[in-house]
Amino acid sequence: NKPTIGVIGMAVMGKNLALNIESRGYTVAIYNRTNARTEKVVADHPDKQLVPSYNLSDFVNSLEKPRRIIMMVKAGKPTDAVIDQLLPLLDAGDVLIDGGNTFFEDTIARNQRLDQSGINFIGMGVSGGELGALKGPSIMPGGQKEAYDLVAPILQQIAARTDDGQPCVAYMGPNGAGHYVKMVHNGIEYGDMELIAESYNLLRHVGQYSMPQLAQTFKEWNAGELSSYLVEITADILTRQDDQGSSKPIVDVILDAAENKGTGKWSSQSALELGVPQSLITEAVYARYISTFKEERVAASQVLPQPQTTDLKLSADFSEQVRQALYFSKIMSYAQGFAQLRAASEHYHWQLNYGEIANIWRAGCIIRAQFLQKITAAYQKNPELTNLMLDDYFKAICAKYQAATRQVVAWAVQAGIPVPALSAAIAYYDSYRSAVLPASLTQAQRDYFGAHTYKRVDQEGTFHYSWYEEQ
Ligand code: NDP
Repeated sequence: NKPTIGVIGMAVMGKNLALNIESRGYTVAIYNRTNARTEKVVADHPDKQLVPSYNLSDFVNSLEKPRRIIMMVKAGKPTDAVIDQLLPLLDAGDVLIDGGNTFFEDTIARNQRLDQSGINFIGMGVSGGELGALKGPSIMPGGQKEAYDLVAPILQQIAARTDDGQPCVAYMGPNGAGHYVKMVHNGIEYGDMELIAESYNLLRHVGQYSMPQLAQTFKEWNAGELSSYLVEITADILTRQDDQGSSKPIVDVILDAAENKGTGKWSSQSALELGVPQSLITEAVYARYISTFKEERVAASQVLPQPQTTDLKLSADFSEQVRQALYFSKIMSYAQGFAQLRAASEHYHWQLNYGEIANIWRAGCIIRAQFLQKITAAYQKNPELTNLMLDDYFKAICAKYQAATRQVVAWAVQAGIPVPALSAAIAYYDSYRSAVLPASLTQAQRDYFGAHTYKRVDQEGTFHYSWYEEQ
């Protein structure tokens, strides 16, 4: 029998996704530009229903029609190269899926271009890394709805499942919607990671917690409101010693310079384009950038003075206050993330379903967390919710945890410990809940130097003040 689906790209993600699909009872065609990779997959899994091809036209011809093909190759030019080679081999009605971390605007353009030949192009975000691909990722597909319906039964079987058994996949919307949602997912992941890192730094350097105490604290946090994959692995990481023989904790021998592959930056750039604040993700991206200036930082640490007062009078429940600040800030980060999704949905006409998005992030992906259920519940209650913090549950948490967040940020500033994401969270909260902001002064300055005009609080119309005339 002909393979139901084919996978192109036999690096870690493609191989594991193919094995995942095969494990659900499908015969899977596989292809990779470099034959050796395909040969290795077949040799390592002799008992699996994998049908290898060593040229693209054999691969395409081996598939059941309409053809279903998932590409798991490097994003950017390599993806275009594969599409260009495939195009003459495909027929109208075939479904081509790009499962790579592609920039959503590329997906919009490719969807349009392939549509001219009648080929359905799905841009599909896949999260969960190598293990997720094999055992069940969170999947965010966007493209023609009819095309999604042709692959939905397979995707539903290979996706992760929430604890109440729902598959972590749903149709996100047309063209670039799936890759956009995946991009924001990755941005939120940057934010979550930075908030955890700042909290760890505070406990360690302000609270003077030992490594075992730190590990224990994160373990306890993982049993409550903060229960999530990233908090869970943090607790585990903090128990680990160096495996190269230094007898130090592993976090003390890893160079403090964090790399990135650009998806966080894309999220921030898109937020700037759409005119919505995304300060949490952006601060997280900057935090990674500044971490890479290791030599400059070491040199600066010799010449730029620390704060003079370090007598902070911490309260006995310091770790509880940090926990509250972390949860509060996480809520601000998701509030910004979902506000960005809302702005993008309007701008690109996607009709994103926010509750469903939170739902498919509940398992399989890196930001999986219990509190995503609260987000789903909030949007189920009110699909038109303008901002997550206005939902009753989140409003109550904000009211309860804002004081701790202010205190923790104040301590951090006094101690000279950088908390860019935690402080962005409280600044966003305070800006959003301010009926009056000093933007009137900004607007006056704009009118003063550039005659940009201003609007009034008490009259309709546009005004220009006569700044240069004697009063
Ligand atoms: P890589 O991103 O390392 O890409 C390697 C694959 O791309 C190989 O199959 C390679 O073929 C192929 N490739 C590269 N250039 C070309 C080209 N010009 N023409 C044809 N094929 C080419 O592999 P991953 O498995 O890590 O990721 C695959 C995709 O999934 C990427 O887009 C990635 O961003 C995304 N992704 C990755 C995750 C991860 O955790 N790794 C998580 C989620 C998404 P060859 O063997 O011939 O070099």
